[in-house]
Amino acid sequence: MFRLKKYFKTSLITFRNLFVAILIISLPCQAALAAETLVCASYPVWLFARYLNEGRDLFEVELLTNPATGCPHEFSPTPKDLNRLTKTKALVKNGLGLESYLDLALKVAPPDITVIDASAGIPTLAAGWGRVDIDGPQAPADRSPAMAPNPHIFLSPKLSIAMMANIAEGMTRLDPGGADHYASRLAAWEFSLASLLDDIERFRATHRGFKLVTSHGFMDYLARDMGLAVLADLSPIGTEAPPSAQRLARLGRLIGEERISAILLDPEADPAVGRSLSQEYKIPSAILDTATSGTYDPPEDYYAQILREDVDLLNRLFPANVQPPPPAPKPEAAPHNPKPIEPPTLD
Ligand SMILES: [Zn+2]
Repeated sequence: MFRLKKYFKTSLITFRNLFVAILIISLPCQAALAAETLVCASYPVWLFARYLNEGRDLFEVELLTNPATGCPHEFSPTPKDLNRLTKTKALVKNGLGLESYLDLALKVAPPDITVIDASAGIPTLAAGWGRVDIDGPQAPADRSPAMAPNPHIFLSPKLSIAMMANIAEGMTRLDPGGADHYASRLAAWEFSLASLLDDIERFRATHRGFKLVTSHGFMDYLARDMGLAVLADLSPIGTEAPPSAQRLARLGRLIGEERISAILLDPEADPAVGRSLSQEYKIPSAILDTATSGTYDPPEDYYAQILREDVDLLNRLFPANVQPPPPAPKPEAAPHNPKPIEPPTLD
């Protein structure tokens, strides 16, 4: 009996130790599990995080918006979306106010949520950058929407690499063991965009003076990369309201005076407005994909495909008007001197 009691006592201690051991062992697992879901606040950063995750798959990379949302300025989360945020431990956002719905929505998220801001440290353009003032001052300079940063950094392939670097860094903080994996995926992303970046550089070197009107500031960073100037938007900066008759008349004057070359719209803009300006002023109007919409299962190179189509479209719209710069001279090999130079003798 005594032996049995002792056995149970010993067993209980062993079981307790075992329980504690399991708890300790399971703690890191719980930490990893807690970060398992990586919720993305807009489609481009979802594409980026998904690409980085591929092959390691520690995270369940989820999209908070609908894949048909487009530019999420007007997105409003459903109660179901908000419910998902209450359980979210890690979130990736484009930042710069693109996902303005997060200001309120994040209030329901756990207070210790990790937010990875893909725009961190990226130099931005003001929303009113390069615009001709066709409306006159609408608000004091410090509250003018023209002074706010333009959030459409994701449409510049060059900046997509910087955004990916920020996301890779955030994912590495959550999953330090995956540091090498995220670094190699980032390098693969950069490599996959190399020929596109070359073509953008070539476009910039062979095209001069093309001026645009766009539907909203969606392509400012891409336009800057390609040497195109955006002089006005269809809607006043900071709004996506259809242009008034008065604004259309002002845009018409601007198109004539500044010799605007084309009107470029995002897929959510009303194509009829572009069409009517295009017909009236005899300039092309086209829709450029913003890589903000797609399916839940796009191919891995979806972003590169979209940007390739965009760059090809811009090449078709605008003829090269400058000779390409001559290729840089190849460095000549230093003449080989078979006879080594002897040091001078000092006697
Ligand atoms: Zn937008």
